[in-house]
This record gives sequence, structure tokens and C-alpha cells, in this order.
Amino acid sequence: MPLVELKNVSKRFGKVVASSNINLRIEDGEYITILGPSGCGKTTLIRMIAGILEPSEGQVLIDGKDMIGTPIEERDIGYVFQNIALFPHLNALENVSYGPIVKNLTEGERHNVSNQYLNLVNLLDRMKMFPSDLSGGEQQKVALARTLASGSKLLLLDEPLSALDARVRVDLRYELRRITKNLGLTVLHVTHDQEEAMTVSDRIVLMRRGRIVESDTPEMMYRAPKELFTANFIGETNLLDGVVVSSGIERSLIELRDGSIVEAQPGEFDPGDLVVISVRPENVRATDEGLNSTIRSISFMGTYLRITAEADSEDILGFDVHVARGMDFNVGDTVSLGWVMESALVYPKPPGGIAEAVKLE
Ligand code: ATP
Repeated sequence: MPLVELKNVSKRFGKVVASSNINLRIEDGEYITILGPSGCGKTTLIRMIAGILEPSEGQVLIDGKDMIGTPIEERDIGYVFQNIALFPHLNALENVSYGPIVKNLTEGERHNVSNQYLNLVNLLDRMKMFPSDLSGGEQQKVALARTLASGSKLLLLDEPLSALDARVRVDLRYELRRITKNLGLTVLHVTHDQEEAMTVSDRIVLMRRGRIVESDTPEMMYRAPKELFTANFIGETNLLDGVVVSSGIERSLIELRDGSIVEAQPGEFDPGDLVVISVRPENVRATDEGLNSTIRSISFMGTYLRITAEADSEDILGFDVHVARGMDFNVGDTVSLGWVMESALVYPKPPGGIAEAVKLE
């Protein structure tokens, strides 16, 4: 039985449609992230599951039971917010002891449970410290321990890491996944950070303008996105305008604006169809027989250089080369760029144009 199910859920605030006909099943033990640009409706969705907001239409089911009308305190949900809300006058252990269920236990039991969860987040040695003396990451771990100690099997995380430094955020991602998987929890984690979503989730649900664009494993969302918006939002990609010359079961041949012909994955297209090719920078290579291009910029990225070049078709192509090969490339040089056919995905050209189809709002 799925632990959480949303059926035809919509939410309107006056004229604003924050959620539009959402259908989503979250299986028992799954770690799901709701990902999408600012304002796409992530928080509204998680708040309807929590019971902070009621849908305008549709059903929210938890363990098969319709939750409409059930208040947050009766839904047996753990909820961690972006802004850490610890009691400033209580130390770390006391804060964890103050969890809604834990506080009804005897003092001895409460101490044991609180110890156990502080240990889980590796903070036993900080148990006597007050929030003002803990780092942001440690405070968020205490907040997590307090929520986990309540024993809920369903954990809702609303941007739980976004108030933290980049480095702490990365460390805590792994901790979150490790801890929640060890406890066998079902997790719904809201984030606008695609890298965070890629590293923690079993499955990503990508939203835009109140709707689910698509949902799949991080690997499939990256390697085989079904929608152009996904290809552009998750990871980085180059998007090229083209017209189909031929498209069969082995490959597609596509003509760019300057008449050059490139190869891409097969698809169900007819000659003359307007399409968009998506090819990621790490898959673009300098080759002997590729697109004639002029290097416009070179950026140092650590282990690799990100080079952008303008092809004769006027498409801008980003590509990566290992730093050790960096001296082969200079701004203003001409370079021939290509890719293996399998790494170039093809989408029908959106009627409103590419920019509108990938716009982050
Ligand atoms: P962010 O990442 O910026 O937090 P989000 O994806 O979580 O954004 P929501 O907070 O769910 O987005 O908001 C979705 C839309 O609903 C937005 O246009 C927002 O302005 C609107 N909205 C949310 N809450 C309310 C409210 N209480 N009253 C009116 N409009 C609201």
C-alpha cells in the first residue's frame, strides 16, 4: 500500500493556481524530492500533505485513509522546516526531549530516546550545549533528531538545508539519506536545488507552474528526460534548433540553421519537423569532422575547463575539457565540435519557442 497518495489535487489562492491536478503516489520507504523553480508550488504541496493547507479539490491519502479534515497533529507526520526553530533556553538534549510524543514518556524513557536520536545525528557530545552555541548545521541536526524522536514513519522536509553553508549542506545531505534509510522512513523533501535532489532521492518529482512535469529516478531524469524543461533544469545542456532530415530506428539526422547536418537519437519524427536537440557539455567533444565553431570563453572549473564556442549555425555550445588539455584551446580559436549520436536527445520544438519552454517561473 502506498504511504502517501495525492489524487487530482488542486489548490487555488484567489486567482493563483498553486497546484493543478496533482496525482502522485509515494511508496512506503521511498525518499522523494519535490524539485522545481521558486513559486512552482512545492511548499503548497507539502503543506497539503501535512494538513497545514486543505486542497481546493482532490484527495490526500495517508496509509489509504483520506486525510481531508484531519488536523496536522493527528496525521502522525514529522515536519522539518527551513528555519531552525529550537527552544533557545533548552540545551540540545532537552530540545530533543521536547518532541511531541517523547514528552509524554517517563523521564528515564525520555532521556534514553533523546540520547538515541542525538547519537543518530552524531551530536551526543554536544547534548548540553544551547542552540546559540551550536553551528547552523548542528542546530538543524538537533531539529531533525527532535522530529525523528517523535517516531513518525512519514517525514516532510521543506528546504531543510537551504539556510546552511554550501559545505555543511553537502555533508548533511548524505546524513539525511543515511539516517532516514536506516530508520525505514518515507521522506518527502522539498528543494529548489537540483544537485541536492540528485544526491538524496530515490525519485525526483519535478514541478513547474503548479504541475508535475515528470517524475523518475535521478539517473533517468538526467540521462533520458522526457521533457525539454527537465533536460534544461536538471544538469546543464546545450539546446540547438533544427529541422529533421530523416528519423529512423537507428538515428535521426537533423539540419541546423547553417545547413550542417548532425546525428541524434532516433525518434518518431517526419522530415521537415522542427525540433530541438539537447546535448550535455560533457558529451560535446573536439573532433575532426564536427561543427565549425569559434571559442568565445574559457572558465576554470577545478578539474575541468568549461569552454563556450559559437558554431557557424549561431548555436552556442558549452563543452568540457580536462585541465591538462587546457593549453590546446584559446579564445578566438576555431574548433570542430561533435558528439556521439546516443548523447543527443531530440524534442519537438515547442510552439512558444525554446526560451519560453525552459523559463524558470
Ligand atoms: P519557493 O521555492 O519560492 O518557496 P514554492 O515552489 O514553494 O516556492 P509555493 O510557496 O507553493 O511555491 O507557492 C506557489 C504559488 O502560490 C506562488 O505563486 C505563491 O505566490 C502562491 N501562494 C502560496 N501561498 C499563498 C497564499 N497563502 N496566498 C496567496 N498566494 C499564495
